[in-house]
Amino acid sequence: MSEKNQKKAEILAPAGNREKLRFAVKYGADAVYFGGDEFNLRVRAGNFSPGDIEESIDFCRSHGVRTVFLMNAFLHEDDLPAARVYIERIKKYPFDAVMVSDPGMLLLLKEAGVTAEFHLSTQMNTLNHLSMRFWREAGFSRVVLGREATLDEVRKISARTDMEIEVFAHGALCVAYSGRCLLSRYLSGRDANQGDCAQPCRWDYKLVEMKRPGNYLDIIEHASGTEILSSKDLCLIQHLEEYLDAGVHAFKIEGRMKSLYHAANTTRVYRHALSVAGTDDFRKHLPFWLNELDLISHRPYTDNLFNEFGNAAFEGVPYVKKAMFMGYKEGTGDDARQALVRTSNPIYRGENLEGIFPIHDVIRDDIFQVMAIRDAEGNDVDMARPNSLYTIVFDKDVDEDAIFRKRIGQ
Ligand code: SF4
Repeated sequence: MSEKNQKKAEILAPAGNREKLRFAVKYGADAVYFGGDEFNLRVRAGNFSPGDIEESIDFCRSHGVRTVFLMNAFLHEDDLPAARVYIERIKKYPFDAVMVSDPGMLLLLKEAGVTAEFHLSTQMNTLNHLSMRFWREAGFSRVVLGREATLDEVRKISARTDMEIEVFAHGALCVAYSGRCLLSRYLSGRDANQGDCAQPCRWDYKLVEMKRPGNYLDIIEHASGTEILSSKDLCLIQHLEEYLDAGVHAFKIEGRMKSLYHAANTTRVYRHALSVAGTDDFRKHLPFWLNELDLISHRPYTDNLFNEFGNAAFEGVPYVKKAMFMGYKEGTGDDARQALVRTSNPIYRGENLEGIFPIHDVIRDDIFQVMAIRDAEGNDVDMARPNSLYTIVFDKDVDEDAIFRKRIGQ
């Protein structure tokens, strides 16, 4: 294990809104990435207003966490005036880095005097060290490699560059070449390269013979369904040490559109893995981490982008959901067993919830029984409705920033 890389390496967590950012930070992110209300590749995420940006940067700085601002949309000619106006609005904020795809955007940011580090998005499909050199000369300090880069290629590139290398470690993949895809624009009018993919690769398709309109035939790929274009989700946790040795500086977790629970738990797991990489504890904790990552909604995981179809036992990519996100502790009650809980799903008096927590010395989960539920007026109720705030009395003390989940089928 390269001690130098282990110390420098960071976990980049998705921050789809301010609450997700707060929990990503509390659960161990070294850096968070988020977009403003324009020119980032997730126009449907709960993007950050100027006020949100300012408060979030302050919050991250107070916790020693770096901020990466996304300006990674591809610009059409007519987008340039609006991009200039937007850059004027945001250039005062002290981001640590700005993530860019389009070289035109880089020029606009430099012209406006933005002095943050520039990171090149995976959308530019960088797969060799000469491309890295080109981007360094353009002004970038870090490149997110194309997701097509194998571990061996990462090693070779790292040996021939002094730039920082970031890789995607966890989350959804695209069947298209690092997301360069026209399918969504063609079928739905929503442009993946402007951050508005409708994910038609995951739709359900049928076969129809031209002279028999309306007579749809199922395309049966395997026993559990058909997902011809839908790729599995990436999970590199068991190879983290190898990627560190290869010279990777940053591991990105995908998922700004996913839940707060997703952001927090993946961050917690990868944070812990990074902190014990190179020690005997890594193999010892791996089963726990894999189990935790299995309790986040996901497609079947893969650590291999290239040999999917060489696997004769391929069983498709039905969605895996083994636990529900029930809510999180937003504030304290009258004593340590009481918590103000922001609910995400219905919670019933008497049931058991599983809590997860930020890492303090150890990484752990715990079971809590719901003893009583009080609504905003202080009335005892049997059930807490979703997306509301309740005081819940548990059978034991509840840690700060606890997140609650429930196993499906229990
Ligand atoms: S349609 Fe599918 S493959 Fe294409 S960009 Fe969207 S998620 Fe990726």
